[in-house]
Amino acid sequence: MPIDPADVAICLEDEAPDEGGASTPMAPPIVQTSLFSFRSFQDLLAGLADEGGHHVYTRGSNPTAEAAERKIAALERGEACRTFGSGMAAISAVLSSFLAAGDHVLFVNHTYGPALQLAGHLERFGVAHDVTLELAPAAVEAALRSETRLVWLESPGTMTFRLADVPAIAAICRERGVLTCMDNSWSTPMFQKPLAVGVDIVVHSATKYLAGHSDLVAGAAVTSEALMGPLFEKGYMLGGGILAPFEAWLLHRGLRTLPVRLARHEADALRVASFLADHPAVRRVHHPALAEGEEGERSRRQLAGTSGLFSFELARGTFESVRSVLDALERFHLGVSWGGVESLAISPENGRNASELAEMGLPRGLIRLSVGLEGADPLIDDLDRALARLA
Ligand SMILES: *Cc1c(COP(=O)(O)O)cnc(C)c1O
Repeated sequence: MPIDPADVAICLEDEAPDEGGASTPMAPPIVQTSLFSFRSFQDLLAGLADEGGHHVYTRGSNPTAEAAERKIAALERGEACRTFGSGMAAISAVLSSFLAAGDHVLFVNHTYGPALQLAGHLERFGVAHDVTLELAPAAVEAALRSETRLVWLESPGTMTFRLADVPAIAAICRERGVLTCMDNSWSTPMFQKPLAVGVDIVVHSATKYLAGHSDLVAGAAVTSEALMGPLFEKGYMLGGGILAPFEAWLLHRGLRTLPVRLARHEADALRVASFLADHPAVRRVHHPALAEGEEGERSRRQLAGTSGLFSFELARGTFESVRSVLDALERFHLGVSWGGVESLAISPENGRNASELAEMGLPRGLIRLSVGLEGADPLIDDLDRALARLA
């Protein structure tokens, strides 16, 4: 599906301030400052009374971060966005701003590992959590407790890319007064806009597609003005995990090419995934565009497109076969993270975690690929050669 031209316009929108002369810079300045000085004490007091609305201190707001924040908010159709020093800083800010002792969080779907580890850490502060891999709205509703304050969604989910029925779950939660937060790093707002279907908060690892070049770590949270109030005052200002001006500038630069990058990631990943789906050494490909039945319908209904990250299961699902394939790859780099211009491969297998993988509901022999921008042909050749080792 083509990317919405309105979103392309937002990505390219000029964010350089008009200085009133005959010409203006094409790129915004990097406002590399920790603080802003005021002309009068009265003005300083007014600034301190509303740090969200004034430039006082860069831990509160900074014009370079705001250039990226305006674009991300507009793309997600949200009222307010704040950028963070990492995706985890954004996730931490949401959890610490909205949860208190006695609350319960329900994670729906396979969830980014460190987010779950953070929830485990919050147990010492009296916050409980559960994970449900049953994605039918009725199953999610049944897993809610009277203390559930927040439902955490990741759709498509980590590693197996299954889809939850996001609008239905958001509606159930809204009716019960439960907040919803969705990690939208995989789709980006180009392919899915959770706030538009009733989700309360969206978080991003902007390290991935939003920045897109594997050269910075960043996060973002987008929500309504009403929810941004506590999120800004508590998780952002007091958590302190802000994005530095130079990183914010790089993120803003990445956003300008997001639509063209994603269109190419999508097309090439689909070709690689289709090649793998037909390969005899592959048991199954986990890619939302190849999903069938109800899952496929959900994918077509909820996603305007698919990005470049997916996984596949080797027919011979052992650590040794995973290692053999990964070590034979030449075009794919081995490494964590994803969403950059280079293709990456990794596996949850480590040779001694078979029971852990089973507990997490992950299949054996899983390999995750992030398809970069090298073009599909050399990547397919690389995989073909590496898989031939298993013959
Ligand atoms: C990488 C990632 C995060 C964490 O983001 P960082 O920028 O690495 O802190 C969160 N969610 C998903 C889905 C991720 O892939």
